[in-house]
Amino acid sequence: MTILVTGGAGFIGSNFVLDWLGQSDEPVVNLDKLTYAGNLQNLASLQGDSRHVFVKADIGDYDLILSLLKQHGIRAVVNFAAESHVDRSIHGPEDFIQTNIVGSFRLLEAVRAYWNGLQPAAKDEFHFLHVSTDEVYGSLEKQDPPFAETHQYQPNSPYSASKAASDHLVRAYHHTYGLPVLTTNCSNNYGPYHFPEKLIPLCIQNALTGKPLPIYGDGQQIRDWLYVKDHCSAIRRVLEAGRVGEVYNVGGWNEKANLDVVNTLCAILDELKPRTDGKSYAEQITYVTDRPGHDRRYAIDASKLERELGWRPAETFETGIRKTVQWYLDHQAWVENVVSGDYQSWVEKNYSDR
Ligand code: NAD
Repeated sequence: MTILVTGGAGFIGSNFVLDWLGQSDEPVVNLDKLTYAGNLQNLASLQGDSRHVFVKADIGDYDLILSLLKQHGIRAVVNFAAESHVDRSIHGPEDFIQTNIVGSFRLLEAVRAYWNGLQPAAKDEFHFLHVSTDEVYGSLEKQDPPFAETHQYQPNSPYSASKAASDHLVRAYHHTYGLPVLTTNCSNNYGPYHFPEKLIPLCIQNALTGKPLPIYGDGQQIRDWLYVKDHCSAIRRVLEAGRVGEVYNVGGWNEKANLDVVNTLCAILDELKPRTDGKSYAEQITYVTDRPGHDRRYAIDASKLERELGWRPAETFETGIRKTVQWYLDHQAWVENVVSGDYQSWVEKNYSDR
C-alpha cells in the first residue's frame, strides 16, 4: 500500500514524510508544486530511497492526480498543500483562493472519482485526511474557553477564510458523496524546516544576523504552540484510528503571548550562542505596526483527540523550543539557502519597516 501526501516539501509536510518513512516502510508519493515555501532540501536524506516518489505538480491538476492515485493504488491521501502565510494572504489573497479553495476542490474531485472506482474492501480502507488550522475558528477573548471542534467558524483573514472553505468542502464531500474524510485543526507549529517568514524562525535568524526582532503591536497576541513532530504523530494517529467524518483539534495546551515566545528565544540564544558584545538578544526586539485584523487569541482544546485516540504530545513548549533553536544553530546553511532569491525580494517589497 502507498499513501499520497500533498505539500510534502513544505514545513509540516516534509516533517511528516520524514517521520512516516522513519517509522514504516509504506511508500509515500509526495506531490508538491514547489512554491516559495516548498523545499526539496528538507527531504535530502531520502535521496535514493525508493519508498519516496516526488512529483512536482499542483493539487488542482485533476487528471494527473487521478492517474497517480490509480497508478500507485493509493490507500490514503494526506492533504497539507496550501498557501499558508497570513501576511501574504493580506497582501495578495488570489493564490490562497486558487490553491486552498479551487485546488482542494479539484483534489477532492479526483479523489472522489478514484474512490468510486475502488473495490468494496479497498473503498472501506481508504481515507482522505485534510490538514487544517485553528485559525478557522476566529479569535478568542482572554476569558473564553479554548476552541472545541464544535466552535463556530469565524475566519478573519483571507488565509483562514480559504482554509475554512476547504474544510467545508471536505465535510460536504463526506455528507454528500460518502467520501471517507478526516479533518484535523491544529494550533501554531514550530520546529525544524520552518520557513523563516514565520515568527519563531524569523526571530532566531534575525537575532543571529543582528537584525531587529519584529513584534506586531503590543506583542500580547496569544497563540497555542505545538512542536511539529507532535503534529505529525497526531495526524498519523488520526489516520490510523480516527472516526470517518470526524474533526479532531490538535494542540499542545501551550498558550503563549508572542512577546513571551520571543523573549524565550532570546534567553535560549543568550545561553547557547551569546552575543559577542555580551548584551542580550532581547535588545533587538522592535515593535512594528500591527497586522490588520490581527486575531488576539487562539487556544485549542485537544481533549477529543486525547480521550478518543489516546494521543499526547511528546514535547512541552520548553523542550520543543530549545530543540528548535538548536536545530537552527546547527542548520545555518539550510536557512541561508532559503532566505535568498525569491523570498528575499518579497520580504524587501512587503516588509520595508523591518
Ligand atoms: P508551508 O507553506 O510550509 O507548505 C505548503 C506546501 O504546499 C509547500 O511545499 C508548497 O510548495 C505546497 N503547495 C502550495 N500550493 C500548492 C499547490 N497548489 N499544489 C501543490 N502543492 C502546493 O505550510 P505548512 O506550514 O507546512 O502547512 C501545511 C498545512 O498545515 C497547511 O494546509 C496549513 O494550513 C496547515 N497548518 C499549518 C500550521 C502551521 O503552524 N504552520 C498549523 C495548522 C495547520
